[in-house]
Amino acid sequence: MELLYRSTRDSAVQVTASQAILKGLSADGGLFVPDTIPALDVDLDDLAKMDYQETAYAVMSRFLTDFTEEELKDCIRKAYDEKFDTPEIAPLAKADGAYYLELFHGATIAFKDMALSILPHLMTVSARKNQVKHEIVILTATSGDTGKAALAGFADVPGTRIVVFYPKNGVSPIQEKQMVTQKGANVKVIGIHGNFDDAQSGVKAIFGDREMEREMAEAGFQFSSANSINIGRLVPQIVYYVYAYAKLYANGEIEKNEKINIVVPTGNFGNILAAYYAKQMGLPVAKLICASNENKVLFDFFQTGSYDRNREFILTSSPSMDILISSNLERLIYRIAGSDDRTDAELMKNLTEKGVYEITPAMREKLHDFYGNFAAEDETARTIRGMYEKTGYVIDPHTAVASCVYGKYKADTADETKTVIASTASPYKFTRSVMSAVGQECEGKDDFQLADELSQISGTEVPKAVEEIRTAPVLHDTVVEIADMKAAVKEFLGM
Ligand SMILES: *Cc1c(COP(=O)(O)O)cnc(C)c1O
Repeated sequence: MELLYRSTRDSAVQVTASQAILKGLSADGGLFVPDTIPALDVDLDDLAKMDYQETAYAVMSRFLTDFTEEELKDCIRKAYDEKFDTPEIAPLAKADGAYYLELFHGATIAFKDMALSILPHLMTVSARKNQVKHEIVILTATSGDTGKAALAGFADVPGTRIVVFYPKNGVSPIQEKQMVTQKGANVKVIGIHGNFDDAQSGVKAIFGDREMEREMAEAGFQFSSANSINIGRLVPQIVYYVYAYAKLYANGEIEKNEKINIVVPTGNFGNILAAYYAKQMGLPVAKLICASNENKVLFDFFQTGSYDRNREFILTSSPSMDILISSNLERLIYRIAGSDDRTDAELMKNLTEKGVYEITPAMREKLHDFYGNFAAEDETARTIRGMYEKTGYVIDPHTAVASCVYGKYKADTADETKTVIASTASPYKFTRSVMSAVGQECEGKDDFQLADELSQISGTEVPKAVEEIRTAPVLHDTVVEIADMKAAVKEFLGM
């Protein structure tokens, strides 16, 4: 049976999975959601025998019903290969009474790789299915992490090109080096004289430029987006929760159908929404624990039922969670509103116009699956240090936020349910914060020196992703003014 997708803001808008992947966002500003969440009708004993790729097929085939078996398997095979530094793809590490699901073994050592490795392949198949003749041009603004993961995912994928804009003085030295050394004939990295908001607004303006769209079509191109609200990013993220559960069962850590808790360090609400969808599919999950840093807009939302972005934006040591508008929360709002597009559209209008919205008591009742809390900066550092001293296991600041919140949850509830914590970045990506948290002297040392020292104290190897950029030549040195972004895109496309 074909599963169709609707806009959260207008139920009359209905598309296939491949169309939703191509469009990214509905024209009314809504997000695409599946009409129903399909059941995971595979026996756990069968799942327990599957490798990551087979699990990916079992989960994704139920959502992307207009892909043939061959098409989907081909996408999966191309995505989850030697780009990952372990054949397990997403291994589990047991430490201090919880299971850390390591989602950072891909090309850019952060969890964005889990979805951005496969999105380009889903997109090219979707383009073929819908008779798109043009080359797909991905346009992205990045504050650091997404840009590199998208570049790595789309590099040399036939039928695609990718342009990434980043704030020239607004990313870390390692992040910049990761991007400007990116290889691939179809990639372009451009710095701008401006901040992340300028880059984002510039990209949005180009997307909305009808004259540009016409010129692009004439030249044989069309834009698409690799943004985290694309269902082509959401669906691949459900896979690793199913995989982790099946592995816990296969390894005798849990009984058949024993419920587990899942803790997710959260920013845009994509990763935890995937865990929620896994639960809706029938995975035995008790609580979904939403961990925030000091930008605790979600914690306040779960406490009060009011989502309020009118507050100071705080820069923390977990920058990928420094977010005040968690876009994917809209999909949960739509669901707890009883799939009511009018309620959803109204609340989102309030958010745009006033920066705040409030849900009804009836909607709040449907949030009992969730528990929210947050970690302050000093708590996050103490968690990294405490874990290292107790077990020798080194976690990054994002994962530490989750670990700290899990501690608060246990103190609040005395719940001893076995728990999986999503570990979203390698400590090598945030070496300076991690090394200073464990009490090492960092002053006067560059990030590569600190990576070597981290390797020594943790007994782990410096990941290939870091080794490669140590000596890699800079391939991109274009820097433009905000006003010249469109011209830079045209030049790259030879228009
Ligand atoms: C993007 C990111 C997050 C937040 O995930 P969301 O899906 O946006 O909630 C957490 N940790 C790391 C390292 C990330 O890159």
